[in-house]
Amino acid sequence: MKDITARIDFRANTQAVSPAMVAATQKNARTALLKRSEVVVEFGEERWQQLRRAGRELRLHALTHLDRYLSMVEENVIAAGGHVHWARDAEEAHSIVLDIAMQNSVRNIVKVKSMVTEEIELNHALEGRGIRVYETDLGEFIVQLAGQRPSHITAPALHMTKEEVAALFREKLKVDAQPDPKLLTEIARQRLRKEFLTAEMGISGGNFLVAETGTLILVTNEGNGRMCTSLPPIHVAIVGIEKVIPDWESAAVMLKLLARSVSGSKITAYNTFITGVRKDGPREFHLVLLDNGRTQILRDEIARETLMCIRCGACMNICPVYNQVGGHAYGAVYPGPIGSILTPLLIGTRIAGGLPFASTLCGACSDICPVMIPITEILLHLRRRFVEGDDFEGSSISGTLKAIAKAGRYVLGSPSLYRLGARMGKIFQAPLRSGDWIAAMPSPLDRWTMARPFPAFRGDFRGWWKKHKNAKDISGGKAS
Ligand code: SF4
Repeated sequence: MKDITARIDFRANTQAVSPAMVAATQKNARTALLKRSEVVVEFGEERWQQLRRAGRELRLHALTHLDRYLSMVEENVIAAGGHVHWARDAEEAHSIVLDIAMQNSVRNIVKVKSMVTEEIELNHALEGRGIRVYETDLGEFIVQLAGQRPSHITAPALHMTKEEVAALFREKLKVDAQPDPKLLTEIARQRLRKEFLTAEMGISGGNFLVAETGTLILVTNEGNGRMCTSLPPIHVAIVGIEKVIPDWESAAVMLKLLARSVSGSKITAYNTFITGVRKDGPREFHLVLLDNGRTQILRDEIARETLMCIRCGACMNICPVYNQVGGHAYGAVYPGPIGSILTPLLIGTRIAGGLPFASTLCGACSDICPVMIPITEILLHLRRRFVEGDDFEGSSISGTLKAIAKAGRYVLGSPSLYRLGARMGKIFQAPLRSGDWIAAMPSPLDRWTMARPFPAFRGDFRGWWKKHKNAKDISGGKAS
């Protein structure tokens, strides 16, 4: 298992990104965005905004009544013959799943794509005990074969071209794979067929949990979800506690929002509804309700809206930063704008405090989010938490930088001090200046100039305006 206490260095990670990966990410993200906008235009802008507002309201309502709805889920799942387990963290979730596996002599597991199992690194825990885990979603199958982590929450292999996938299949599966998506899919299908039929356990996540009936909703496009949750004799679903929604009316709203935002379709190909044990399904159904830091997030009045996320991936597709660096640069399970807020909230700002800074704050993510999560507001809030150290971990910023930031705030808030500062800056920059730029700032400000040049001080705007206001170069539209 990787060291989860190592600080995520977003800037260093971006240096490992290849141009081919960026090109594939941009192409695939653009296609997804185009499809989404077509289907939203067809739905009607006004209706879409109404649907978004309804989705937001009901997700907020569910989050503020989690205790009630989770109890309803538990009661209804047990009444339908299922088992409910509560896991405080990854370790507890691992031991619950391992216990079920050991009691039933499970050696092979087929899995549906699930971000929450990536979050708790379930595959590592199972494989560490000699159990083989087969990812059955095509994208997950590819990244598992490549030994990588997903680069997108709905399209795990978004960063790969068909040529790269064909080469991977040739190398790992020893087959004559050509770069044709249909043929590659067929190869994966053939490989997985035997595993579907022989696995003793199927593991899934869940898109929603409907409290009024205790139903798990699973939304997939490939049909593998149905196979994993109906063929093996045991089905274990691991679901974050925030996924609960009150009733089927809520489900109708959420499914419309999700399908359009994920894949630009009116409805996802496979919507699977599972309530406890079915006559024609697995003999055992286990629901693991996972906290893993979520109740801690709920305590933060601003950041708690992060838990409304329905994992559609639209914020990634539209994000200019994600499109420049791809998902792996975020160094964590959840990439893109949602990852930049969710990761530090889940694993702490000490480790992931740099991620909220991996944003231009353009606001495109908040605008596209189907449940209207104010991502930019939460990014700013987390930056503040990181700098001020007002969370349980303490500040991650050096005392010198803090003093400089405080002085900067004071100077920028006073016109006279600002003018004086600009004049002093002009004088003191002389030894560092190279033409119009300052190539390297002294420590600790050198972190800025390591990444980009800093423009030299050229006096304050008022002084410049006084000198130029009557000049022809301004009236002609060419201010020098
Ligand atoms: S934050 Fe919003 S746009 Fe991004 S994945 Fe979650 S629901 Fe989708």
